[in-house]
Order: sequence, then structure tokens, then C-alpha cells
Amino acid sequence: MIFMEENIAENEKVMNARKEMDKLVADSLKRYKLKPNALFVKLSDVTKHIAKKPVDWARTNSVWPMQFGLACCAMELMDFGSSRIDAERNGYLLFRATPRQCDAMIVAGWVTKSVIPELKRLYEQMLEPRYVIAYGECATSGGPWWESYNIIKGIDQVLPVDVYVAGCPPRPESLFQALIKLQKKIGGVVAKD
Ligand code: SF4
Repeated sequence: MIFMEENIAENEKVMNARKEMDKLVADSLKRYKLKPNALFVKLSDVTKHIAKKPVDWARTNSVWPMQFGLACCAMELMDFGSSRIDAERNGYLLFRATPRQCDAMIVAGWVTKSVIPELKRLYEQMLEPRYVIAYGECATSGGPWWESYNIIKGIDQVLPVDVYVAGCPPRPESLFQALIKLQKKIGGVVAKD
């Protein structure tokens, strides 16, 4: 009996020691979080401040759109990529075939409910910060298919849209104007207006 009581007392001591140790570790972690290295914080602030303007300038003048033609509006999108429009003169570079090299999704055409998971997946795979342009009536509001059972009433129901472009079909020049608006939203210096 005496042996059992000694064992229980010993176990209690071990448990108390463990609790004490856990408390010490938690306290030291708290101290670490509350008092980070002041010099490091200042240097990172300075770096961010110095880099902000060049980064904004680069983002503004090198918008990388993603190929995302879904319906007849995609024809206008192709026209936008032609030499007649010459989009590159304002920093809208080549359409990329992979979302990992893009920061602007131009949704051209109607979006069916079955496409939504793929649309979201591609958006998640794009670089941050990323932007969305709803190109045409269908992408903006469902267009002629407003009351369809399988087409969503605008992509803003599933993604955050930055710029809307009206028209059925919208003109490629309207997309040019929309990208200028997007550049202004990004916040850098816009080359032309
Ligand atoms: S807005 Fe008009 S042109 Fe564009 S996808 Fe819809 S129906 Fe076609």
C-alpha cells in the first residue's frame, strides 16, 4: 500500500514538472513573438518602401493575360491579339497558355455551371496579385442566356471582377480601354490613356 502511494506521489511530481516545463516553453515563445528583432523589421520596411514604386511600375506595364475564350467573344479576343490593335504597345503582353505565368484572366463568353470548378481552379493557379476582366454581356450578366438553366448570371457570382466590358460582341478596342482601366486600378503609372 505504501509502495502504491509513493508511486502516485512520484507520478504527480512528474506531471507537475511537465506542466511547469510546458508553461516555460509557452512563455518563452510569447516573448519571442512580442519582441522580434527590431533591426530586421526596420530593414524589411525600408526594402518594401524602396521596392514599392518599381514593383508597381512593372506590374502596371506588364499585364499578362490568360487565354480564356469560352464562346463567340473569343473571336474578338483573337482580334485583340492581332497586329491591328497592337496591344503590346501598352504593356499587354502575349496570351499565355498556363495560369502560372498570368496575372489577368479575361473571361470571354458565357460560363456554364459545369465550368465553374475549372474556372476557380485556374484562377487559384494564377500569380498574385491577379485580376479578372468580364469581357462581353455573357461574362458580365449571362447576356442572352440570362434565364438559362445552366449558365451563370455573370462571373462575379464566383470570382472577384475588376473591370466589366459591355457589348455583344464587345469590340477589341473596348478591351484595350478595359486594360487601361485595370492599369489605373493596379495603381502604377499608366503610359497612355
Ligand atoms: S456576349 Fe454575345 S458575342 Fe459574347 S459570348 Fe455572349 S452571345 Fe457571344
